[in-house]
Amino acid sequence: MRIFDHPSFSDHEQVVFVADREAGLRGIIAVHNTVRGPALGGCRIWPYRDESEAVADVLRLSLGMTYKGAMADLPFGGGKMVVIADSATEKTPALLHAIGTAVDRMQGRYITGEDVGTTSDDMAEIAKKTDKVLGLPPSLGGSGDPSPSTARGCFAGIKASIQHLTGADDLSGATVAVQGLGHVGWRLCELLAGAGAVLVVTDIRPETVAKAAARFGARTVAPEEIYDVPADIFAPCALGAVLNDDTVPRLKMRMVAGSANNQLAAPTHAEMLRDRGILYAPDYVINAGGLIQLAGEYFGFGREELDRRLAGIGNTLLQVFETAQARGLSTHEAADRLAEQRLKREPAPTAQPSPERVDADGSRG
Ligand code: NAD
Repeated sequence: MRIFDHPSFSDHEQVVFVADREAGLRGIIAVHNTVRGPALGGCRIWPYRDESEAVADVLRLSLGMTYKGAMADLPFGGGKMVVIADSATEKTPALLHAIGTAVDRMQGRYITGEDVGTTSDDMAEIAKKTDKVLGLPPSLGGSGDPSPSTARGCFAGIKASIQHLTGADDLSGATVAVQGLGHVGWRLCELLAGAGAVLVVTDIRPETVAKAAARFGARTVAPEEIYDVPADIFAPCALGAVLNDDTVPRLKMRMVAGSANNQLAAPTHAEMLRDRGILYAPDYVINAGGLIQLAGEYFGFGREELDRRLAGIGNTLLQVFETAQARGLSTHEAADRLAEQRLKREPAPTAQPSPERVDADGSRG
């Protein structure tokens, strides 16, 4: 397997293979860029078919974290860890401790957190071996589930998007088609309904869909029909690659603004959206609320600072939309260019971690 000329290799600073035979650890930590600060990104436990699949994932995901941190204006770079294992059957305390040891050996250049296949409780296990871990349970001084912050950041992004189109950020009477009623989607529905939006929802879990109909007075559609709904806004909050050759021509909405990661099947779909006159809020900009919450856990943001930064997602998006318009770019490309500009600037001053963190053994520090 080749790394330096791998299609997803993008001048990553460090790619480290880690192993512990007894604990069953086979993993890779990729530090993409630390210009703005230590590389932050979750630890994904996934039964990859082989090493090359894991390498492709860790290279791509760590690069994405660099761009996400830069656009959220956080003093963090981009990193990620992937572990080749089935989280349902192979995730043992020993494996989590070995992950913690591997993270600790990075000497602060990489900070880990939750991702697919890991939970807040797993972070508490990992924290027994390293303090370079975020997303701890509130009982250990962590910030807990990041989804409410992701939903709030997404809501701020939807308001900014409608403001860009209409000049006012008023959502009352606007129809929003929400795909996915999970941790983020459900909370987003609460915020949208509270702002007077009319909801059309879907999910693959019929009982959740029925609950949303009762709770929000939402109209419900089958999962495959959500792309054809006449609405003002499409909010994808379920899967990746939902903006593709099949769906983009079908959309009747004026804008796409939702929390899902990797919404574009390919960058060309951002251009297709632009050419159809549909405003696209780049996913990694609008869904940064969870990352902002983790930064708050690290630096000890108060409520006000967290609120200010989540609301700031709206302002960042307005800047992206204006840049795209001025330079004739897709909004996706405009976001990438802005992130790259931020990466060329002087590093953000390194703030100190909050002294309020409680270590896994119960001590503060
Ligand atoms: P979740 O697993 O809690 O919810 C996803 C929901 O989508 C589930 O209810 C699921 O049944 C539904 N779903 C799955 N396939 C579907 C389909 N084909 N059609 C309609 N619904 C479908 O996940 P989440 O934490 O709410 O995250 C949602 C999205 O936002 C994911 O793409 C995630 O990567 C992204 N995201 C989440 C966070 C966060 O803080 N949780 C942060 C950044 C990005």
